[in-house]
Amino acid sequence: MGNLGCLKVENLTVSYRNVEALRNVSFQVFPQRVTGIIGPNGAGKSTMIKAMLGLIPYQFGSILLDNQPLAQQKHRIAYVPQRSQIDWTYPATVWDVVMMGRVKKTGWFKPFSRMSREMAKTALEKVGMYDYCHRPIGQLSGGQQQRVFLARSLAQSADIFFFDEPFVGVDQKTEAIIFNIFQELAQEGKIILVVNHDLGESINNFDDLILLNKTLIAKGTRNEVLREENLYHAYNGRVSFYSEFDRLSA
Ligand code: ADP
Ligand code: MG
Repeated sequence: MGNLGCLKVENLTVSYRNVEALRNVSFQVFPQRVTGIIGPNGAGKSTMIKAMLGLIPYQFGSILLDNQPLAQQKHRIAYVPQRSQIDWTYPATVWDVVMMGRVKKTGWFKPFSRMSREMAKTALEKVGMYDYCHRPIGQLSGGQQQRVFLARSLAQSADIFFFDEPFVGVDQKTEAIIFNIFQELAQEGKIILVVNHDLGESINNFDDLILLNKTLIAKGTRNEVLREENLYHAYNGRVSFYSEFDRLSA
């Protein structure tokens, strides 16, 4: 597989029955960068990811990868939904959850290959969860659960990774592991798009940002986007965020 091109969203408009969630949003996401989608609650961040995945229809616009519709290349995407959208009572072990990431490659009702099992093991080791492989996922902490879902996405051997709020309810150790893996994936040339509503210190782990509030407010490098006027506009008032400038002048 050659080098990955960029992911291009053009003039995207998405409405639920009577709510317009996104209006005329355009941006590009580049490989080798860790890109965040930020914005207040209800800004349309999850809607954006779901529209890109083809989980909800959109009224207008286009979503292209390598200049071809992304909808025809879904096998290249790994997606980790918001934790609140996962049924944690589902009786699956850590191993089951990660192997589900291999189903599309293997096919339902076919035995998993040795390669699939190796990839699942490598992914679990990478996130520090291989020792837990027989545990039911419902018994893990929030951070451990998030790491298992990250391992599942790694086992998928995807080119594009979408994560929705992966840092909510996780411990600092997990946050550091996750950001390290994002950086590694970026260095391998993958596209990494992460919804994140938190503007704390961890925002500095992103290379590029997309700031949304129904419409696109700003896009570009982290420093281009994290300007007071952009945040004021997106959050309809003053908002405090962690800036490198504050740290330097403190
Ligand atoms: P965010 O992830 O940025 O918090 P969402 O994408 O979840 O925002 O929601 C954007 C807007 O769309 C909100 O006004 C929300 O209430 C609305 N919305 C989200 N999901 C649905 C749905 N399934 N049906 C109707 N409206 C929805
Ligand atoms: Mg959301």
